[in-house]
Amino acid sequence: QKVILVFGTRPEAIKMAPLALKFKDNPAIDLKICITAQHRHMLDQVMEFFGLQADYDLDLMKANQSLNQLASRILSAFDEVLEREQPDWIFVHGDTTTSSMCALAAFHRRVRIAHVEAGLRTYIKDSPFPEEINRQMTGKITDLHFAPTTSSRDNLQREGVEEQDILVTGNTVIDALHLAVQKLQSGYEDDEIAQLKSVITAGKKVITVTGHRRENFGGGFERICEAIKKLSAIEDVQVIFPVHLNPNVQQPVNDLLSGIANIHLISPLAYPAFVYLMQASHIILTDSGGVQEEAPSLGKPVLVMRENTERPEAVEAGTVKLVGTDPEKIYSEVAALIQNPENYQRMSSAYNPYGDGQAVERINQLFVG
Ligand code: UDP
Repeated sequence: QKVILVFGTRPEAIKMAPLALKFKDNPAIDLKICITAQHRHMLDQVMEFFGLQADYDLDLMKANQSLNQLASRILSAFDEVLEREQPDWIFVHGDTTTSSMCALAAFHRRVRIAHVEAGLRTYIKDSPFPEEINRQMTGKITDLHFAPTTSSRDNLQREGVEEQDILVTGNTVIDALHLAVQKLQSGYEDDEIAQLKSVITAGKKVITVTGHRRENFGGGFERICEAIKKLSAIEDVQVIFPVHLNPNVQQPVNDLLSGIANIHLISPLAYPAFVYLMQASHIILTDSGGVQEEAPSLGKPVLVMRENTERPEAVEAGTVKLVGTDPEKIYSEVAALIQNPENYQRMSSAYNPYGDGQAVERINQLFVG
């Protein structure tokens, strides 16, 4: 069967890479990889780390392009790939403009669609942010849904998807994490990791911060920065913040947090260095989806700087806590974890609901010859 895996952003690349590697080894699959490059540099780093090469690089990101411009360019550029390759299946991931537009292009051509990380929902109605509508639109036209958890399966079934069209797999991010951890354990080191080692001070508790969500642009990031500034004054704490390249993140963070003792603003890290940093962290403060899924496997408590989440399993399991963006709330939740070892122990030892690292094997089993 001919299969096209298509993705565009860093997190999608991380989560699709283990599947691409698995499919490459499957003689029943003729695999093509297509990247839209919604992220450019951060995506290329992931491809390099996992040793993947794109058969099609659509290179569609332009500065200041609107979501509609991006969406229409993805739709028409991917249509040409479909025309040329005539695949049996396309695999899309998650909730990006790449996912929804490539799925739509495949739907118009009657190509079957598989959706990895299917069934996540916030069900927030009039949100101006595209993720929820991207995942719902993609889910509507998907033929085969790979749900990471039973609650994502339940969402799909409530929406009328037949049970036989859903497979609960665990999240492929755990497969990717295992690959990265194995590599680190076998002595892998690069310049970024060497540099991190020189920044991390023995005896200090590392608080790692990441953020990139549109919903936190503006006031959200200003409040987050205020909280981080306050946290950096706690004795024995060291903040390490790989700052996302989006100017809406760069600007407030550089304006409000530059030059403060104990706060290390660094460039976004390539995946292996970020995994190294997560391992070295005491607490992780983030608005990221993927980090919420990965960090519990490393035994690291995650405080999520959002008001809502499409990943309720981790909150229920107790590995993750929603803290929003109120500076006082963020500060007090971090301080409580630092000062109360029982709280810390409870969060860091809770069970990770996002899987066992065998997700891509479960998907691959459906495609053996
Ligand atoms: N990540 C990375 N380098 C960084 C920050 C994050 O490689 O400097 C990884 C992280 O391990 C996770 C993914 O990027 O696998 C999450 O991406 P992001 O937070 O951008 O997106 P989301 O998961 O929220 O869609």
